[in-house]
Amino acid sequence: MKVVIIGNNVAGTFTAQNIRSLNNDVKIDIYTQEKYPYYTRVNLPELISEKVTIDDLIVFKEDWYKNKRLNLHLNKKINKINPNNKTIQIEGKDDPIAYDKLVLALGSTPNIPPIKNAVEMKDKRTGLFTLRSIDDALEIKDFIKSKNAKKAIIIGGGLLGLELANQMNNNNLNTTVVEFFPRLLPRQLDIECGGMLRNEIESRGIKVVLDATTEEIIGNGTVSGIMLKGGEIIKGDIILIQAGIRPTNELAKDANLDTKRGIIVNKFLETSEKDIFAVGDCIEYKNQIWGIIPACMEQSKIVASSVLGLKKVDYKGTTPKSTLKIVGLELTSIGIIDPSKEEGGAWEILKKADKKDCCYQKIILKESKLKGAILFGENKAMSYVYSKMEQDVDIDELKKLLELYTYICNNCGKEYDESKMGVLFKDLPGDFKCPGCKGPKEEFKKKNNE
Ligand SMILES: Cc1cc2nc3c(=O)[nH]c(=O)nc-3n(C[C@H](O)[C@H](O)[C@H](O)COP(=O)(O)OP(=O)(O)OC[C@H]3O[C@@H](n4cnc5c(N)ncnc54)[C@H](O)[C@@H]3O)c2cc1C
Repeated sequence: MKVVIIGNNVAGTFTAQNIRSLNNDVKIDIYTQEKYPYYTRVNLPELISEKVTIDDLIVFKEDWYKNKRLNLHLNKKINKINPNNKTIQIEGKDDPIAYDKLVLALGSTPNIPPIKNAVEMKDKRTGLFTLRSIDDALEIKDFIKSKNAKKAIIIGGGLLGLELANQMNNNNLNTTVVEFFPRLLPRQLDIECGGMLRNEIESRGIKVVLDATTEEIIGNGTVSGIMLKGGEIIKGDIILIQAGIRPTNELAKDANLDTKRGIIVNKFLETSEKDIFAVGDCIEYKNQIWGIIPACMEQSKIVASSVLGLKKVDYKGTTPKSTLKIVGLELTSIGIIDPSKEEGGAWEILKKADKKDCCYQKIILKESKLKGAILFGENKAMSYVYSKMEQDVDIDELKKLLELYTYICNNCGKEYDESKMGVLFKDLPGDFKCPGCKGPKEEFKKKNNE
């Protein structure tokens, strides 16, 4: 049997590896339009600031593929799939490539919001960039150097936008982040934590503009700034758009596979066409797309099993989890972070917000099951949270871990449970009065067992 995989990043590579570990005999060919073997995109911002080299990013060198008998074909863009005779076509070549099973691991590309001039001006000579590949990072680095760029604008205050802004700032560029939503990391944080993060980011010298719609890229030949809705102009000599992703689905669409935002798959990661599978950033499952490595890894195991026709394993979706990778800034967000947007009741929230120490920890539970968390400024609870997701947890154990206490009034026995009140006992004003007996704050003591 011959398996052909299109795409050689995390989804394609791990699918190949998983197929090989289950079956020694199938022939596996991987085609990618990139010129490098599998490299991680995670550290691309650091390639711009020369903290890492291309070699540091490459996860598996060509020897790795040879040892596993995976035939890697670099610099090969596939421009057609023909499901009728089970072939694919390489751009510029006449002979079609036959497959028995085809896996689409086509990934995604940066989303470009509807901003005047954004599509027209995106070019390495103009100073308007997105960051997805090694080549993008090298072009950004060269532009900054050759044009002696001093002011950077990042459109998009999500994870990648902030990581990129941090690198630009570290490179001594005067940096502004422009975010459409009224807070940073709108998908990962609630309003309170978003505000704390903004303070932290601004304390590093990065300007943050929220609730701002970029209407136009301004410039003549090269960029000179952006215009916001309302007419405000922000000047910049390099502009980076990091505003989410768009699953790559054109090849599939042209071959009449079902697509919406991404390539539609069922729970076995089969597409609408027999013997064609899809995995990674390019898929859409139950109206959801992911765009994170843990989802690619999980899916690559399932698709390997489906391709080989082994015992079929259901894909149940991947819990969203993200970590902001900025030195000195601990931030992890996992699962459900805002129950008000979810269906049904019985949600419980444990929260510790310590504004002075810039620490915010919020744990979301439903019927004692751990459903999500935001951990900012303190990650002691991270491994606990990761290991207990979707499991029953002991709330007292969690409170201990987060150092959340219950205080009790010596006069009347009224309790102040920090985990429920949202304000730490130490942060209550000095003239706080017991809600029961109106006694002074000093009457409260930590409960014995805590
Ligand atoms: C700067 C940056 C930082 C990131 N940091 C994190 C992080 O910290 N944590 C995290 O979980 N995720 C992170 N991500 C996201 C993560 O990199 C993606 O989820 C992951 O790369 C998706 O892998 P994939 O294999 O599905 O697709 P991709 O990585 O997009 O790879 C798809 C491959 O298919 C090739 N291809 C597409 N079409 C064709 C064609 N027609 N012919 C031949 N080849 C084709 C592409 O060239 C590409 O090499 C980051 C992404 C970026 C850009």
